[in-house]
Amino acid sequence: MNLSPLQKLDSPLLSAKKIDLYIKRDDLLHPLVSGNKWRKLKHNIAAMQDQGLQKMLTFGGAFSNHIYATAAAGQLLGFETIGIIRGESYDVLNPTLAFAKSCGMHLIYLDRSHYQTKNLAPIIKANPTLLDNCYMVPEGGSNQLAVDGCKNIVREIEIDFDYITVPCGTGTTLAGIVNELKPHQKAIGFSALKAEDYFEKEIAKWVDEKRLNHVSINYNYHFGGYAKITKTLLDFTSNFEIEFGVKLDPIYTGKMMYGLFELIEQNHFEPNTNIVSVHTGGLQGWMGMQDKINKLYNATKSE
Ligand SMILES: *Cc1c(COP(=O)(O)O)cnc(C)c1O
Repeated sequence: MNLSPLQKLDSPLLSAKKIDLYIKRDDLLHPLVSGNKWRKLKHNIAAMQDQGLQKMLTFGGAFSNHIYATAAAGQLLGFETIGIIRGESYDVLNPTLAFAKSCGMHLIYLDRSHYQTKNLAPIIKANPTLLDNCYMVPEGGSNQLAVDGCKNIVREIEIDFDYITVPCGTGTTLAGIVNELKPHQKAIGFSALKAEDYFEKEIAKWVDEKRLNHVSINYNYHFGGYAKITKTLLDFTSNFEIEFGVKLDPIYTGKMMYGLFELIEQNHFEPNTNIVSVHTGGLQGWMGMQDKINKLYNATKSE
């Protein structure tokens, strides 16, 4: 069963280069539990329920799409959620955390040094029963069940593609995809982080060694680092929406598409290549960053 549609994109560039480009619209999976976060949570929720548990604890930054999706899933399906949030508490919650709280998520802040090693000691000291009957999901929702959930992205694609592209934050989604490729198919991960060589090691944790030559990671389109945004990138995403009617976020999918279009322009792909790009969703996180975007535009105006 296809849970999300495959949409073909048409443009003069794609015709000129004879590239067939499709978007796997996982952003349409669910209005709140969107994209790859839905794929990653699905088997984890089932596992929690199988174990007779009704409380999910997970980790994330203040703009985390995973925190948002977990909170929404908890409210929809009626289980308790706890979000361990990196850093200090905020006087005014940003839209991501305000939404999570409105879903009933219990937000607990953890200073950066403890957060880095996911050391919950200070939290447990204040709340000794917190972890009782608790199902834990790692940051970004990244575990074996999440990798397995992401295999379905490929299983649902009915056309015979040559390449599949996906943005990378932890590499979990990419790992699931690579595990499901046919021998002639290749995956390209676009890094959303400034982190040379990082994902090769990460995906090796989840992917059979034989499959590692089916995947390459492109580190050229992080635009300065995680959640760093430039005007060039925002102009690209707004033009993309006008041309194709598809909204991209500038943190993950926008950077991937920018990179992919540049590679197509530079004849990186042979004519008659079929490419599928996964729209991993994530449109909420950057809505919370409107301040940052407004500042960027005001700064460029006064230059
Ligand atoms: C979380 C997220 C990613 C990163 O996925 P990983 O499996 O951690 O690599 C990509 N795109 C969007 C929209 C996300 O929210």
